[in-house]
Amino acid sequence: MGLQWALAVHGVITILVVVSFLCGHWPIFQGTFVERIHYFITSGAYDYFLRFVAIVFGSKVRNSFLRIEYYCCDRPNPVLQLLYLGILGGTYYIIAKSSFRYIPGVYVNELHKYTSVLAVGVGVLLFLLTSFSDPGTVNAKNVSQYVSAYPYDNILYVEKECPTCKIPKYCFVLHLIYATLCHLKNLMRVHLQCRPARSKHCGICDRCVARFDHHCGWMNTCIGEKNARYFMAFLLWHALICLYGAIVLGLILAGQLKERKIILILTVYYGIDKSFYSLFPHVVQWLLSAHNTQMLLIVFLTVVSLLLAGFCVYHAQLCLTNTTTNETFKWQEYLDWRRKLNEAKASAAALKAALHTVNGEVKAPESKCRQFFNKSPLQSEVAVKNNVYDKGILRNVLEILVPISERQSFFHRKTF
Ligand SMILES: [Zn+2]
Ligand SMILES: [Zn+2]
Repeated sequence: MGLQWALAVHGVITILVVVSFLCGHWPIFQGTFVERIHYFITSGAYDYFLRFVAIVFGSKVRNSFLRIEYYCCDRPNPVLQLLYLGILGGTYYIIAKSSFRYIPGVYVNELHKYTSVLAVGVGVLLFLLTSFSDPGTVNAKNVSQYVSAYPYDNILYVEKECPTCKIPKYCFVLHLIYATLCHLKNLMRVHLQCRPARSKHCGICDRCVARFDHHCGWMNTCIGEKNARYFMAFLLWHALICLYGAIVLGLILAGQLKERKIILILTVYYGIDKSFYSLFPHVVQWLLSAHNTQMLLIVFLTVVSLLLAGFCVYHAQLCLTNTTTNETFKWQEYLDWRRKLNEAKASAAALKAALHTVNGEVKAPESKCRQFFNKSPLQSEVAVKNNVYDKGILRNVLEILVPISERQSFFHRKTF
């Protein structure tokens, strides 16, 4: 009974921490303890840690931590790439060392020893493709084509040059002059090319990236127009291999239960009732004592698989609507701004109507029915998302699989 309670409490705490971490910032949790746990996990704990370091070790040590944080979070670095390889390699090593001796088993074929190597190999290949392929860097040679390929919607994107890249309009002579006299930036400013719509300057990579999605620390690169397909494949593949690992480990444990006749021992020798609810805690107890490594691995792989699957579904939904992560924030800001503007205009109009006088007399208040039909057009104006880049599911998916800049038509686009 005690074990059941311990497992239930452990499950509730795990779910609470995961939900708080991933969703604690959602408006629905505003002011609740879920939001407080989210704040504590994402920044509060680190702030307390820095304060603790400053008090105990002094401000010099605290500044060293801040410098490390700047290097790890704001500069390109391979820390998370190495951590990914460490986690992947470490997990595979632990699985091979602890569980390969049970293969082949009652439910697991010898083949899984080799398919697991293949699965991890493909995972590493997708990681390398995402990390080291060009995300779609905008430069002087392709900027005109990109500007032509992605029109400005004049909502999220207006014609604007990148103040950091200062990409010149491409022309061989001009480019030569620019390269030679790049220190004369003020002189060249009149010839700068506008940043293509949907691109963004990444402060960490220090470059403009076409169809910018986000900067991924795990990949140490931006996710953009050209590598979004590898990134999606990476997420999907890793969600599947984690699930695959958890299922194979589960089958190994099921095989062990059968081989060692645990159910028979529990029911015949210990006299435990042959029902699921009676046997379950005893089976779990045996598994935790005899196969604790496999049990921990199953929990770890299942949690990681669910997180990756959630992230993959989120990105798939963005792909289907031809929106980037960067644009979801921009749309949120735009719609909030429009909503507030409409509310302000509506209240101003209502105030004006209330104070309106005819020949010095205050206008008689309108009936509720009349108010409804005479509603100000501003009040009924609803801020809606008008995504001009959404061309239908098939073309949106095709844009991810075959990026615009890799199509023949891209190179024949008018340069200006
Ligand atoms: Zn830039
Ligand atoms: Zn970047």
